[in-house]
Amino acid sequence: MAKSFKCSDLGISCGWSTTANNDTELLKKIAQHAEQHGFTEIPFEWEAKIKASIKEV
Ligand SMILES: [Zn+2]
Repeated sequence: MAKSFKCSDLGISCGWSTTANNDTELLKKIAQHAEQHGFTEIPFEWEAKIKASIKEV
């Protein structure tokens, strides 16, 4: 089972989405993408939101 995440699930106007084999890989990709939104790392309060938005595909 792969994991997938869409940036728009956080209520951000962004078309970016990604998939990975597990949560760890997915969170790494999300952290890299977060830089494009001006974050050097994922804000703590986002982490729960992100985890809640991760879907199995
Ligand atoms: Zn985004």
